Amino acid sequence: MKLAQRNLSDLQGVVDFLAKNNDLIRVRNPVDLKHELVGIAKRFEGQKPVLFEKVKGQKAPVLIGLLWNREILARIFGTTFENLSYALAGAVTAWQRSPIEPVVVSAGPANEVVEKEVDLTRFPIPWHALKDGGMYIDSGVFIARDPATGVRNASIHRAMVAGKDKLTMLLDLGRHLRSYYERAEAKGKALPLTISIGVDPAVYMASIIPASGAPMEMDELGIASELLGEPLKLIKGKKVNVEGVANAQYIIEGELLPKVRDWEGPFAELTGYYGARDKRWVVKVKAITRRRNPIYHTILAGKEIWNSVGLLAEAAAFRLLSNLVPGVAGVYFSHGGCGFYHAIVRIKKGREGIAKNAIVVAFSSIPALKMVTVVDDDVDIYNPEEVEWAMATRFNPDTGLVLIKDAVGHELNPSTRAGLGTKIGFDATVPFPKETKFERVRTKEVDLSKYKIDRA
Ligand code: MN
Repeated sequence: MKLAQRNLSDLQGVVDFLAKNNDLIRVRNPVDLKHELVGIAKRFEGQKPVLFEKVKGQKAPVLIGLLWNREILARIFGTTFENLSYALAGAVTAWQRSPIEPVVVSAGPANEVVEKEVDLTRFPIPWHALKDGGMYIDSGVFIARDPATGVRNASIHRAMVAGKDKLTMLLDLGRHLRSYYERAEAKGKALPLTISIGVDPAVYMASIIPASGAPMEMDELGIASELLGEPLKLIKGKKVNVEGVANAQYIIEGELLPKVRDWEGPFAELTGYYGARDKRWVVKVKAITRRRNPIYHTILAGKEIWNSVGLLAEAAAFRLLSNLVPGVAGVYFSHGGCGFYHAIVRIKKGREGIAKNAIVVAFSSIPALKMVTVVDDDVDIYNPEEVEWAMATRFNPDTGLVLIKDAVGHELNPSTRAGLGTKIGFDATVPFPKETKFERVRTKEVDLSKYKIDRA
């Protein structure tokens, strides 16, 4: 990967790279942060990233869509669509064997300017969907230290601007930051943290690694070092004793207050539904630093999350499956499954029953996973029509169905109840040994360039 050597270790470098490859859409008119910016972005979802050059009342441009196209993301990481998650999985394995610890430097671009007054409402933070409760920071990397062990954690959370110096946020169950917070809160203490906005893709990917890839005792920012090809640089906070990302565009410093909850939401979530309004965790902001000429980075909840959080979940599932189940040839967390509710596993079946083992192992990659479909290695897992064909002609509901009732599911998925969801596995592979009736029709391979064909 070696993003640092390719000048992709900060967002400016990435934007230049996109522009050079003709992979960037530029919106030149001034747009409104409230609803209009995202309304335009939505029309380009899944295509090229969009740079809003002028935002009403702001100096900084806003970038959205950096992660919503897997082909473009693969180009940034120097690999291909199919290989991207496996390459990320390889980086996680390399990091687990010999971690490259981040280094703390005295100053960096992210604190070139220290804002005199803390006022979040003056920043180019978009108001996304029509029923959202306010302006939302949705691409900020939250860094904190475990009050018990001092180990650093990096993770991404949604946070609503609830006042000039106040954010309300979701700390969903099972996240390491929530465990850190609960340890601090039990002692009546606040949890200091930084929020780095506008990080490079290596830091972004490191921050969304699921717990099955980066356990709580390990600092996942080391994965960013692995992807960059050099130790990631961090800088100490001005007002809090935690580091932020030196190359970020902005750093917000603050603390999660103990025993305090306030209104947060609704927010347009990755599922295509609104996360409900409720009393949630509160961050008191103490300082804001930034680059002299920053780019504000936001993401559109949808394909961007499927292609990033889902991609890392896919990488985690691939690592587990290739270690534990013989014959696994590929995994894809489909977009129809919101990037992490449906895993499609491709397997070269060497014995009967092995597809069922693959289902069970895949479920252990992330608790959010709801469906697993296992297909033979002659099926294109990236093509929903092929997967449906395998379901329609190979899946036998009598013998191929696996149900795990009322396991821990994903609380953002509206089909769960009180965090519980039933998981379902489909063995859509042919019986082993393969009966002749399952032989797939093949036709002659031809080179169309040799023929005169009138397509009109
Ligand atoms: Mn962690």
